[in-house]
Amino acid sequence: MSGQEKFRHLLTPLDLGFTQLRNRVIMGSMHTGLEEVSMERQAAFFARRAAGGVGLIITGGIATSMEGGLGPGSSGMFSEKDAEHHSLITRAVHAEGGKIAMQALHAGRQSFHPMMLAPSAKQSPIYPFPPKAMTEEDIERELSNWANSCRLAQQAGYDGVEIMGSEGYLLNQFLTTRGNERDDAWGGSYENRMRYPLEVVRRVRAAVGPQFIIVYRLSMLDLVPDGQSFDEVITFARELEKAGVNIINTGIGWHEAKIPTIATMVPRAAFAWVTRKVKEAVNIPVSASNRINMPSVAEDIIARGDADMVSMARPMLADPDWVKKAAADREQEINTCIACNQACLDHTFQLRLSSCLVNPQACHETELVYVKTASPKNIAVIGAGPAGLSFASVAAERGHHVTLFDADTKIGGQFNIAKQVPGKEEFHETLRYFDVMLKKHGVKQVLGKRVSAHDVAEFDEVVLATGIVPRKLDLPGADHPKVLSYLDVLRDKKPVGRKVAIVGAGGIGVDTAEYLTHDAHHKPSSLDIPTFLKEWGIDPELKARGGIAGVEEQVDPSPREVWLLQRKTKKITGPGKTTGWIHREALLKKKVQMLTGVSYDKVDDAGLHITVGDKAMVLDVDTIVLCAGQEPQRELQAGIEALGKQVHLIGGADVAAELDAKRAIDQGARLAATV
Ligand code: FAD
Ligand code: NAP
Ligand code: SF4
Repeated sequence: MSGQEKFRHLLTPLDLGFTQLRNRVIMGSMHTGLEEVSMERQAAFFARRAAGGVGLIITGGIATSMEGGLGPGSSGMFSEKDAEHHSLITRAVHAEGGKIAMQALHAGRQSFHPMMLAPSAKQSPIYPFPPKAMTEEDIERELSNWANSCRLAQQAGYDGVEIMGSEGYLLNQFLTTRGNERDDAWGGSYENRMRYPLEVVRRVRAAVGPQFIIVYRLSMLDLVPDGQSFDEVITFARELEKAGVNIINTGIGWHEAKIPTIATMVPRAAFAWVTRKVKEAVNIPVSASNRINMPSVAEDIIARGDADMVSMARPMLADPDWVKKAAADREQEINTCIACNQACLDHTFQLRLSSCLVNPQACHETELVYVKTASPKNIAVIGAGPAGLSFASVAAERGHHVTLFDADTKIGGQFNIAKQVPGKEEFHETLRYFDVMLKKHGVKQVLGKRVSAHDVAEFDEVVLATGIVPRKLDLPGADHPKVLSYLDVLRDKKPVGRKVAIVGAGGIGVDTAEYLTHDAHHKPSSLDIPTFLKEWGIDPELKARGGIAGVEEQVDPSPREVWLLQRKTKKITGPGKTTGWIHREALLKKKVQMLTGVSYDKVDDAGLHITVGDKAMVLDVDTIVLCAGQEPQRELQAGIEALGKQVHLIGGADVAAELDAKRAIDQGARLAATV
């Protein structure tokens, strides 16, 4: 079956009457940081995605007024000059046959500057400043700004706008008593709370005329206390249709919601069932979003009638050719977004430029370019973990003759361990992608062979990607049979008792705790939507206000009693800026006891002896798992250098401290681009 047939619902054009989209794929809005860096780089970024076949691209959030920006100096569409600058983007996208809409955003109280305006003077729990309550004058001025900004977007050559109405931004604030405590015409009853967002749509439609796409990003589930009821959401969706919206896109959860909505432990297409209920209530196309990352998932959503379109944002960072590959039945070549957030959203919240863990070229289109080599070399890569895989596939793509060695019988390095952690199943996809790339670009694989220096004597260049060795502890009793390393547990499946202490609460300690607190006989919630909804207290009937009010969380109890320990006194969370809190919440639900400020005294038959503050105690545990960090594995370096060869070190073999797959893959790709 051809890709066109296999994904026929997804790839069917969408006729909006005055214009047609070439397929049902929306590239969802992402603030990448390029908005504030350079128009040229943004143009290259979007044009690359247009060339990859996306039906409709939506830009990152562009402020409709200074007050509405995400922070000081945020990108906005305020003037004719701004429109002229943006035309660089629209021309580049149109030249590739694509269509693009500007996301018009007013952040309301969700901003990092002190000039914030909101329906009421209620500060968001996760933003630093209290907003000013909007006066009638502010309301009127901001309405004009919405209309002006969208008119300028049209002038800049955009095919439409997406009005950002979800994620807890201004329009979403107006709709709920959580953000709107007004008692004038703009607050109180739901009819009054709808007034401002509906007026925005009407003013925008009046400003841009009938032949311009208006997408409205609708918060279908607020997932916060005092959010909208689903009946209210449906009423609003119908009013949006009447006010002239062409497409409704899905938004799930405010930024301040305490429920994961896009991270990797959220099941694929976890919220498409909510979109379906909105689709049933309106007559305009409705797009599903959140954790849709592969063509078969997207196709199923449309085929079973949950939505008319799908919106994917991060998957387009991971692979700009996503649509093209689906259409050509090359699904296996898709570099899948694993929803880690490590190089995209985590960067955004650290005010760094976004990229992608699995695709370091994302947002670096003009600077990290893989050019065919004029002088192919014979290159040995030792180690088929993320660093070695990244190097080997890019170097071979460029035309080098690459031989990839690994002591293991399969490629993947530590990703083979990571992929077994509940909630990290997506890591399988990265290994599938690299496997396909190695074969496509003709990398010779020598697996199941522990390499020594003389094995690589004949190669022109040698890349050492041998990763790490787990750090051992210098502790009395460290050789006690109760003590295991995370490799013994996760890789070698050594038996673990019912009471466990984990030494070290970095990424691997947290993942080991996740692994040990899940019953291996139960499907993890990341693979089962009903279990996920139960675990996080989301109402599948959609009767609870905000989707959560009064809903009890139901969590599978842990088969083990687990202590997670660290020496630092700071709160234990996972390593990710935007995902750490999810790991913490999930482990607390499993009743994991987290101790900080711990010093380790000894291990003996009684268990693990520790001191916390000035209090000595013994944790009466059956097993102690060491997750105390790692050291570089470089045992081959001196031997290879003795052969007169320069050794390139990448990944953990280079620097083990704070190593993650993002750095490993990036370093591999950057070296391969220049070798
Ligand atoms: P490795 O993955 O360690 O690969 C090194 C390879 O070299 C191995 O396959 C080894 O067999 C091979 N090798 C070594 N010596 C020889 C030799 N002499 N001959 C032949 N082959 C040899 N990172 C993230 O970014 N995000 C995460 O969510 C994440 N989760 C993780 C969860 C767990 C449980 C673990 C263990 C790790 C996780 N990591 C995560 C870390 C990530 O996997 C590592 O940073 C990454 O694998 C390092 O890549 P690397 O290529 O440098 O080394
Ligand atoms: P890590 O993040 O460096 O954590 C090591 C832990 O061991 C820390 O809690 C540290 O905290 C403790 N430790 C260090 N030296 C110790 C010693 N001598 N004695 C006792 N405890 C010691 O390393 P990791 O957990 O091994 O993870 C490796 C890399 O993979 C990290 O960069 C991590 O970010 C990445 N990773 C990422 C994810 C993800 O989800 N993003 C998941 C897994 C791994 P104290 O010193 O305070 O005790
Ligand atoms: Fe997806 Fe992770 Fe890449 Fe972000 S960094 S796009 S979440 S794979």
